Amino acid sequence: MQQVTDNVYVETGFRGCNPGFLVTREGVVMIDTPQMPVDAIKWRNEIAKHGIVRYLINTEPHMDHFTGNHFFGGTVVAHEGTREAILASSIEQVRERVKQASAESLPLMAGFNFRPPTITLSQRLTLYVGNHTVQLIHMPGHSPYQVAVYIPEEKVVFTSDNMFCRVQAWLHQALPDEWLNSLKLLQQLPADILVPGHGSVCDRSYIPEMSAFIQAWIDAVTAAIDQGMSLEEAQDKVSLLDRYPMEAGSESRAHEVQRMNVARLYQVLKR
Ligand SMILES: [Zn+2]
Repeated sequence: MQQVTDNVYVETGFRGCNPGFLVTREGVVMIDTPQMPVDAIKWRNEIAKHGIVRYLINTEPHMDHFTGNHFFGGTVVAHEGTREAILASSIEQVRERVKQASAESLPLMAGFNFRPPTITLSQRLTLYVGNHTVQLIHMPGHSPYQVAVYIPEEKVVFTSDNMFCRVQAWLHQALPDEWLNSLKLLQQLPADILVPGHGSVCDRSYIPEMSAFIQAWIDAVTAAIDQGMSLEEAQDKVSLLDRYPMEAGSESRAHEVQRMNVARLYQVLKR
């Protein structure tokens, strides 16, 4: 666990997303949850040293960010699209993933249930907790439902998966133009520290590199479409795997992710 400001803690070593939490005078605000139950229990014990959980924010509709909700208290808050995704999720699929990645976690799945958000937002929502302000800002990109969590008193922003710091990005549900726009909005927030959805903690100096990576994806797939390639041909030819490594634990999915990224952009850009 890393303490990134006076009151904000982050873990970048779990399999799945980077969960974090803010300690306020009136309890803890969590941002995302560990995907593997063994990690969730470790994280819960760590958080308990700092207070009770008041709110749990999910920054996006993907399983690696919300599977762990089951293990925590607090009121769950997320974009309304994330609520729909959670309600449509399959416990069987979670169980299968846990079985493959963390067999020791399986016994902890007894009685597993998703905890969907009971408070949702479509554009913006602000939580006032103790002396802290927690601003949730809709920033579509990696998916239509991304939410950035900005805490001005700590000068920190949790970017969701709109930022992957020096690891491969997943674009399987991406809105590429909106993504570039959201990165511009992130650049305008006066935050000193950015907590990406995956990869190491960084600062605003990484935003141009992230934008360049998304632009490179757009350019590569646009070129393939312009050359008249079919989707299958584009998937065989286009890859940006030379740019960054896969995140630890996901190495075996490298080619699958490239093909999913191409498929999504091909569909969006061909319109
Ligand atoms: Zn994601």
